[in-house]
Amino acid sequence: MKNNQENNNLDEKGNDDLELGAVIKNEIEFYPKVGEWKTEFPVYDHDKCIGCGICVKHCPEGAIKLIKTPKGKKAVADLEWCKGCGICPTVCPTKAIQMRKK
Ligand code: SF4
Ligand code: SF4
Repeated sequence: MKNNQENNNLDEKGNDDLELGAVIKNEIEFYPKVGEWKTEFPVYDHDKCIGCGICVKHCPEGAIKLIKTPKGKKAVADLEWCKGCGICPTVCPTKAIQMRKK
């Protein structure tokens, strides 16, 4: 990593030619998908899901969303972004989510 004296030709965003790893870029494409980290994944029982959205608010990866179905709103997880942390089943009031081994 360069020191401050060497970095005095930064552009207005402060990016210039700093080494990767020294700069946090505010661009979503650099955020790695974390789905491959998991050893377990959540399975949603839509007969039990009441569409309350509590799991959506608690997912640290923003991997869960509510979708419209003929039986009302139901939760689904994007497994490319779910890292298998197991939080969502602990907050679901109707026990609609079960973790399964990958
Ligand atoms: S917390 Fe449970 S009931 Fe609420 S939306 Fe999520 S899965 Fe459905
Ligand atoms: S297991 Fe964790 S990361 Fe995956 S959907 Fe549930 S809360 Fe989100």
